[in-house]
Amino acid sequence: MNDIWKRRGKKTLDYKTEGLNPYLSFSVLEESGLVKQGFSTKLGGVSQGKFATMNLTFTRGDNPDHVMENYKRMAGSLGVDVERMVLSYQTHTTSVRIVTEADAGKGITKERDYKDVDGLITNVPGITLVTFYADCVPLYFLDPVHKAIGLSHSGWRGTVSRIGEVTVKKMGEAFGSRPEDIIACIGPSICKDCYEVGSEVAAEFMKGFDKNYRAEILEDQGNGKYLLNLWRANEIVLREAGVEKEHIQITDICTRCNPDYLFSHRVTGDERGNLGAFLSLIP
Ligand SMILES: [Zn+2]
Repeated sequence: MNDIWKRRGKKTLDYKTEGLNPYLSFSVLEESGLVKQGFSTKLGGVSQGKFATMNLTFTRGDNPDHVMENYKRMAGSLGVDVERMVLSYQTHTTSVRIVTEADAGKGITKERDYKDVDGLITNVPGITLVTFYADCVPLYFLDPVHKAIGLSHSGWRGTVSRIGEVTVKKMGEAFGSRPEDIIACIGPSICKDCYEVGSEVAAEFMKGFDKNYRAEILEDQGNGKYLLNLWRANEIVLREAGVEKEHIQITDICTRCNPDYLFSHRVTGDERGNLGAFLSLIP
């Protein structure tokens, strides 16, 4: 089969095209047999115009009936219950919410009674965690020992303030998860070559990371601009949180390198919908 994706590095994501709409899937999570999971594309939905077609956010002005239909299609493809999804409320914080059965449907069939939540963790089977993207980094967590999961939104702010580590620690406190047991995936997002940042952002990373890592995270363009490697930076955060190197999978697909199939803020600015990351423990 022809692969439509422009890939970078070792292949870690499969492209699933069966079902109502296609999605990307981490093979390591799929092979665990413990979770249902995926990352949406722009394909297979009903939204129009700049939201075409698989927009998964209710908050950017799209027709809510279209967004709901998109969710139903994603739920159908992933084999999860749309009414037991729980949505984040992303504002580039490091707040991680422990999701319980009482949260089922929040953000989709019920109002959210929380805000400023960039990470979600749960040990409740059948609850589906949902977070949103258009270049920022999705972090997936699975503790196969304690049967617990997490999903966190790690943009540059979340990366430099280490939401990956915050999520690992919170899973430890809430569920007894040990970092060495956790499988972590760094999901589809912007690659280093596509992500030029200014000196203020670069300075935050110089301050936030050991200088031995500087050359791996930042490439000086010589004009006050830097290329920022969020994939590597998040890997370092996870390693320093105690996650084993061989338990970390890094996306081989960049949102900006694949504008026909993925929403990218760097391609369209605010004229776009959002992609969704989904993770659910199989009951
Ligand atoms: Zn790229």
